[in-house]
Amino acid sequence: MKLAKRVDALTPSSTLAITAKAKELKAQGHDVIGLGAGEPDFNTPQYIIDAAVKSMEEGHTKYTPAAGLPSLKKAVSDKLSQDQKLEYSADQIFVGTGAKHVLYTLFQALLDEGDEVIIPTPYWVSYPEQVKLASGEPVYVTGHEESGFKLTPEQLDSAITSKTRALILNSPSNPTGAMYSKEELQALGEVALKHNLLIVSDEIYEKLIYDGATHTSIAEVSSELKAQTIIINGVSKSHSMTGWRIGYAAGDATLIKAMTNLASHSTSNPTTSAQYGAIAAYTEDDGSVETMRQAFEERLNAAYEKLIQIPGVTCVKPKGAFYLFPNVRKTVEACGYTDVDAWVEALLEEEKVALVPGSGFGAPDNVRLSYATSLDQFLAALERIERFVQTKT
Ligand code: PLP
Repeated sequence: MKLAKRVDALTPSSTLAITAKAKELKAQGHDVIGLGAGEPDFNTPQYIIDAAVKSMEEGHTKYTPAAGLPSLKKAVSDKLSQDQKLEYSADQIFVGTGAKHVLYTLFQALLDEGDEVIIPTPYWVSYPEQVKLASGEPVYVTGHEESGFKLTPEQLDSAITSKTRALILNSPSNPTGAMYSKEELQALGEVALKHNLLIVSDEIYEKLIYDGATHTSIAEVSSELKAQTIIINGVSKSHSMTGWRIGYAAGDATLIKAMTNLASHSTSNPTTSAQYGAIAAYTEDDGSVETMRQAFEERLNAAYEKLIQIPGVTCVKPKGAFYLFPNVRKTVEACGYTDVDAWVEALLEEEKVALVPGSGFGAPDNVRLSYATSLDQFLAALERIERFVQTKT
């Protein structure tokens, strides 16, 4: 079958690929520990499930407006007002089928052939593919371990060309857990404003932050930056609702309108009952978001200490999200491998531990370990990794 060039050029999601391989080994009866998960391991809080069920029982089982129910847009707008102290009207909010599809729709609405989008590395795997699917050109700027994997204003400035349309910022970051301070955002924002760039601020891990950190959106820094920023967020990670597929964008009304038009011809609307669940998520609070955050923080602290004891491993301690992203280059070479991907594959084959190679995130010396699993499982996986390293060195 001849396929379109755009899909031929697609790189399959490395996170989904490793999860599939781990599942396959599990199905064959192997005792696999998967640290590849990109989703919280908790069930969705009951009050949210109840709200969705009730909505269906009450007959809310039909289409909604393409960019979401007015009551959900209001809940999102109230959330942004309360958490970020930012005001958005209904025509500045787009609700879509998960933050991933919201981003996809955004790039489709924004980019023309050859338009450049600056993507700091390490990046979330879908950004480059989504930019390419919209005929855009990803421009990578390397994040270094020494600067906590964060983009500097100088780096941003030198990556900008006459074709640059947008910059993607993901704070806290998947995969590094790095988070930008208000001062850092201000400095980056000045460069973005000077060059009239749109800032795509992916804040999906906003609620999962640790060590007393506070989250700042670049849109909060000034009214000029708010006007140049489109915030992306959703309930997947904060409320353990990955399967519900509800995410949103907040920003310029013209862009939101274009995204809404696109959605009206693609998804029609995000699933109606899931929207009712999301309304409950944003308007009620039974404390479960904070309980889940605390569980993640506890795991992070225990797991991090153990991880950095593996010979050769270095790791910037994450400030948010639920991943560790260590540099394993020295360990891999000491084990006799030249390639981190091959080491990851051997680890899965021999010790049945599934990690995600950093190559898919633009960081080929690193691996991603998700601690969205029980601490016991995580620590057992680290013991297996230690054993693997010991037998190979
Ligand atoms: N942005 C980042 C950085 C992510 O890690 C993810 C999910 O893994 C998403 C967006 C997409 O989230 P959603 O489940 O809302 O599509």
